[in-house]
Amino acid sequence: MGEHKKWTVAIDGPAGAGKSTVARKVAERLGLLYIDTGAMYRALTWKALRRGILPAAAATAGSGGAVPGLAWNTQALVKMARESSIRLAPGPQGVRVWVDGEECTEEIRSPQVSAWVSQVAAVPEVRRLLVRQQQAMARGGGVVMDGRDIGTVVLPHADRKFYLTATVEERARRRQADLAAQGHEVSRAEVEQWIRQRDQQDSQRQEGPLALAADAILVDSTGKTVEEVVDSIVRQCREEV
Ligand code: C5P
Repeated sequence: MGEHKKWTVAIDGPAGAGKSTVARKVAERLGLLYIDTGAMYRALTWKALRRGILPAAAATAGSGGAVPGLAWNTQALVKMARESSIRLAPGPQGVRVWVDGEECTEEIRSPQVSAWVSQVAAVPEVRRLLVRQQQAMARGGGVVMDGRDIGTVVLPHADRKFYLTATVEERARRRQADLAAQGHEVSRAEVEQWIRQRDQQDSQRQEGPLALAADAILVDSTGKTVEEVVDSIVRQCREEV
């Protein structure tokens, strides 16, 4: 890609593949703005949980998974999403997030939000709303955006598309370490189970499922350091195609 162009770079992949760390560093190296779309779905989930819009079970589920077949208030969720304003801004440790002016940067990473976010993200009206906002944020270019459907739905004409993955064991190990650093002690087996469940939910939904775009470059980060992965992506961005 030419140095003067306003690049758009899409990075998709499953939970715990290291997308946000990698995408943030790639953006830094290329002088682009990093947009974490997962943070937007998480922010809405956090607000919904606080308002009790998800089923009562959710509020007490702690780190527990979703209850299959549980009817919950989709209409109220969609209404809430339409009335919410989400703001993202770069921070020293990653993206900072506000909903309706209230900061929720740390709260959106909790196991409880992680357990419910895929259900919120499966609601088509919620997706359409956030996809539109993401497209508006990327208008004019100059962004690295990460998520599940960036290369397929949000930015189908991105200059570069990457699909970042790693074995489920490695992703669970990394996620467990992240959670421990935030004070959440959970077993490796439990984290692996959550990750498998979230991947399954994200891949199987009707709208904007997690999928490898036909023109995406597959990057397997298993056994690689963050710097190695970042270098490889930056190099492939700079190569002319
Ligand atoms: O990237 P992160 O793990 O923070 O994303 C949290 C959840 O948000 C994903 O598991 C997925 O359900 C949803 N998501 C999505 N589409 C995106 C980004 C995230 O559905 N573009």
